[in-house]
Amino acid sequence: MDVKQLIAKYEQSMIDDLAKLISIDSTMGEAQENAPFGIGPKKALDEALLQCDNLGFKTKNIDNYAGYAEIGEGEQLVGVLAHLDVVPVGDGWNTNPFELTIKDNVMYGRGVSDDKGAAIASMYALKIIKDLGIPLNKRVRLILGTNEESGSLCLKHYVEKEGHIDLGFTPDGNFPGVFGEKGSFGGRFYSKNTKIKDIQGGHTVNIVCDDCTIKIEKNSYSCKKLQDYFNNLNIKYSIEEDNNDVVINVKGVAAHASRPSLGVNAISHLLNGLKQAGFQDPFVDYYLSHIGINNDGEGLGLKISDQYGSLTLNNGIIKMEDGVISGSIDIRYPVTYTAKQILELVDKYLDSENGYIEVVHVGEPLFFQVDSPLVSALVKAYRSVTNDNDSQPMTMGGGTYAKGINNCIAFGCGFPDVDYHIHDANEFLPIEELKLQTEIYVEAIKNLLEV
Ligand SMILES: [Zn+2]
Repeated sequence: MDVKQLIAKYEQSMIDDLAKLISIDSTMGEAQENAPFGIGPKKALDEALLQCDNLGFKTKNIDNYAGYAEIGEGEQLVGVLAHLDVVPVGDGWNTNPFELTIKDNVMYGRGVSDDKGAAIASMYALKIIKDLGIPLNKRVRLILGTNEESGSLCLKHYVEKEGHIDLGFTPDGNFPGVFGEKGSFGGRFYSKNTKIKDIQGGHTVNIVCDDCTIKIEKNSYSCKKLQDYFNNLNIKYSIEEDNNDVVINVKGVAAHASRPSLGVNAISHLLNGLKQAGFQDPFVDYYLSHIGINNDGEGLGLKISDQYGSLTLNNGIIKMEDGVISGSIDIRYPVTYTAKQILELVDKYLDSENGYIEVVHVGEPLFFQVDSPLVSALVKAYRSVTNDNDSQPMTMGGGTYAKGINNCIAFGCGFPDVDYHIHDANEFLPIEELKLQTEIYVEAIKNLLEV
């Protein structure tokens, strides 16, 4: 049998195994004994390793943080890294997110695309490599993590115990491959030089704030000018009087922090609107000069870009506690810069008269040359299976497992220009794409065996 025939043979088993994984709510929970990320992620790992056992692979559970299945012999190790945890389902589903539902050959459920489907496609790619009797001069290991969505502590633990890989990919991004992932800079700003009586907005650092409420003195700004500002930009708002104060609420548009220009930041526009409307306040001036409304880091000396993209900045959360305003900063910087360069550029902006910035973390970017052996081998696999020679490997602002282990990039499982509703309601994956992913991964592993 050839690859396509084997995929047809295993199609129903793949769907059945995926359905079992989807039925387990593997969002992060409270740590328990033998379940460092809660009971759901552990159950998903047990189930996936059982499936690997049934397919005849050698398996190992790494302290319930991660696990692996392996085929082949040899010094070198090819790694395929998928994750079994999922993000909370949220509202708006048309089907039960924990029941794999098929409509018109499209599968729906939390995790079908991110990343349980990819785990199944990779698992069966290993099975097919075995069935085909392809000589295995290297070991091929499917590594399954359970904490990718909440900090990838699973991979950190895995690498501590098992070390790095010689070559590999994580099917948790896009085809035809992601050769660069931006560096990250996380911070918090603080200020207490303000007349603002209260301000609260946002709930997640890496999401553009879509809801912000402020309380200020009634006669401290021009209501007409503020209304004009919002109306001109088509921003929804409400203004309510509260004795001598007003409470102003603004609705923005959420978007992922790696692409903040797709959203509308409620905090930034509320403060910018107030400034335009004559509200005089040291904090507002500080915010607009340092954070601003353009998401480009200019106010922090970070308006930088390279041939692969520009730096982005997102303010996801703002709050006021005991007279102090604080807020989050989520920066993704270009793939050819280093953490040291970013810290040097931002240094003189950290402390100023009306506020200061605390650096919470700085992470290096990931970058491989497009013509490196790893990227070339994977892109070649994608092209030979799909005949799509137009789509080009890319860089992205988000981070994957590739940042946590050597010699790895994200490769699929998303096909170019498809929105699978990842992290959203009605996440989906067409059955044909699951099969195509499997075929590409067989080819990719074959190519990596030859590098
Ligand atoms: Zn993922």
